[in-house]
Amino acid sequence: MQARRLSLGCTCPLPRLRHRSQPRSLIITAAIARSNAQWLLLPPANMDKILRGVISYRQVIRKDLIKQFEQIRDHPNPTAVMFTCMDSRMLPSRFTQSKVGDIFIVRNAGNMIPDSPNYGIPGVEVSVTTEPAALELAVKRGGIRHVIVCGHSDCKAINTLYGLHQCPKVFDHESPMDHWVRRNGYKSIKLLHERLHHGPQVLRFESTVVPSQSFDAIIDPFDKLAVEDKLSQINVLQQVMNVCSHGFLKSYFTAGQMNIHALWFDVYTGNVFIFSRERKRYVEITEDSVPDLLRELDRRSKYMLEHSKEAERQQESEEVAEEKQKQEVSQS
Ligand SMILES: [Zn+2]
Repeated sequence: MQARRLSLGCTCPLPRLRHRSQPRSLIITAAIARSNAQWLLLPPANMDKILRGVISYRQVIRKDLIKQFEQIRDHPNPTAVMFTCMDSRMLPSRFTQSKVGDIFIVRNAGNMIPDSPNYGIPGVEVSVTTEPAALELAVKRGGIRHVIVCGHSDCKAINTLYGLHQCPKVFDHESPMDHWVRRNGYKSIKLLHERLHHGPQVLRFESTVVPSQSFDAIIDPFDKLAVEDKLSQINVLQQVMNVCSHGFLKSYFTAGQMNIHALWFDVYTGNVFIFSRERKRYVEITEDSVPDLLRELDRRSKYMLEHSKEAERQQESEEVAEEKQKQEVSQS
């Protein structure tokens, strides 16, 4: 991976974080706001491209697709639910070569999953975002046991998050996008700060709801990535922690039935990376690395199962001890 930069100039008078790979021509939100203003002046995109695409689909793909729909209709067996970015370059069904019925995909700006230990006061109308609802649909109702968070390089949402951090005064209170990335990305920014000030040392990703899912990570150990891409890799791991914050998943984790993975797609090279908990870093998925990665995943699921059996045994012995204590109290 080569470090790449966006070349929009920074007019922000505020001090920036200092780090080795930071370019002078760093993107900031003010520059994004300028480019957004330019978009408003562009003519509307040609809708005929979409309609002609539908015609092409009808002529070439539709019949075969209907057959595939029929095959899985009564026996759906999806493998994973993936949370990824809405970026038009992100084509997960292509880079995973998945077929009809294989993956649920949830897309948003910056592949964020809002964290939540709860959803508000019982009996009071609360606002819940799509992402936890999609998690519930996939895991509790769909029986899916693999959750994937997938980010990418040159992510506009992550660039916006970083720009807001560099220049907080440009935060627009009327911008849903600014609220979205700041609300769901501030923990990632804190970790980026740590990474930039201490260099490529271990960062701790801690889950208080499911401690067994906590892990360490070394981000960009050889300092090859632009700072925004470092943030993007950190953000994927933070969103993994956010998934773990949802209490309705806890029983699946503690039963050793849930597997959660972090992927990262490099839009410049088309390479796909997976985070290895054992190696504490992102590893490129290649013909050579896959056998080891699969062995690691196998070890991880066995560990989680063993961990859950141990927790079950401990709970049983605690219940027996409690029952015994109750009997002793009643007899005395
Ligand atoms: Zn993106």
